Amino acid sequence: MLTVLSVAEAKEKILAAVQARTEQEPVLLAAATGRTLAQPVAAEEDLPSFARSTMDGFAVIAQDTYGASEAMPALFDVRGEILMGREPETALAPGEALRISTGGMLPTESDAVVMVEHTEMLGGNIMALNRAVAPGENIIVRGEDLRAGEGILFPGHVLRPQDIGVLAALGQTLVTVAKRPRVAIISTGDELVMPDAVPKAGQIRDINSFMLSSWVESCGAVADRHGIIPDSKDALRAALQRTAAYDCIILSGGSSAGARDYTAACIDELGKPGVLFHGVSMRPGKPLIFGVVNGKPYFGLSGNPTSAMVGFLLFVRPLLRQMQGAITLLPLLRAKVERNLSSASGREDYIRAWLYAEGDELWARPILGQANLISTVVRGNALLRIPQNREGVEAGESVEVLLI
Ligand code: AMP
Ligand code: MG
Repeated sequence: MLTVLSVAEAKEKILAAVQARTEQEPVLLAAATGRTLAQPVAAEEDLPSFARSTMDGFAVIAQDTYGASEAMPALFDVRGEILMGREPETALAPGEALRISTGGMLPTESDAVVMVEHTEMLGGNIMALNRAVAPGENIIVRGEDLRAGEGILFPGHVLRPQDIGVLAALGQTLVTVAKRPRVAIISTGDELVMPDAVPKAGQIRDINSFMLSSWVESCGAVADRHGIIPDSKDALRAALQRTAAYDCIILSGGSSAGARDYTAACIDELGKPGVLFHGVSMRPGKPLIFGVVNGKPYFGLSGNPTSAMVGFLLFVRPLLRQMQGAITLLPLLRAKVERNLSSASGREDYIRAWLYAEGDELWARPILGQANLISTVVRGNALLRIPQNREGVEAGESVEVLLI
């Protein structure tokens, strides 16, 4: 019998049922994008480690510029140039200036930079300045970006490109992250053939093995495809034995209650506690199985690729993130729907849509076509959520959207 849970109940049950968290491992910075930090990151040194100019101009002592104006320029003796990547060779005395470029290192005596636009060379290395600067102007002081010891990234943070950038700046080329959960992907169905095969009449190519592997990788996990298993209990049993060592097992197909749908029975047979629920009140993707055996999560997603994808996003992705300790938010947006949409009360609907901006508003155009067409999730860039207690939404109404 199907025990049907709401989407929220199902997600809660899954996250609570799986205690496992992956171990930590060091990875090279260049391979760390999308991985979840397992240790805090603090600056080990001041960033920058020396005062730098933020303008092309002249390093000066701010006090020497006070009162300078168009009518009464202040005059400076230009003693030379500070080269990029080099320590200044000349110290500054009052009334002196050194040419400097953006990012150049200030001499210790200098506390400001005057922009080249506010100066004029008069010949004989004399520079006329027509505007005063305050101490600290046009410079970044040592440690202004980050002070030695200051925390910048925290465990559970999923590394983004800018985070890779700050780690590079700090010289932290090995990052301690959560190990990638290893996920086995199994497609089931007598009708399935590999994508490189030419399907005979009645056959179709296996979409889910490849699509789900790709989604798994996008969550920082590793996917291993375990091929196409025919609709046979023995074959499915054997496949589950082969994949028992994985951190998470995802099956697709055979998740309904039909005569040839063996997924639930095989998960139950495999060990305790077995299937925890079968069915979620949602569309697409209602026939979804979740089980735990030896502490390992087993998902039986509907074979229909769109359903499998929605099931993955709502339930598998949060779990793969939890296993890595990820705590950063996934973006959740709201948009207005272009037209009325109906939905049966008592289930949560995920409608494929094209999200676009008009002025400062986000709008969603529902994509026509049945949920079992893969093209609808390819043409779409979002899923609109119609809550379980609603019988539809009206044109112009704001709804939650999940980017896909
Ligand atoms: P099932 O969940 O096994 O009842 O399958 C539901 C629908 O999804 C059927 O039309 C299947 O042919 C199709 N299907 C099942 N598995 C896959 C797959 N891996 N790739 C593409 N379509 C599939
Ligand atoms: Mg099937």
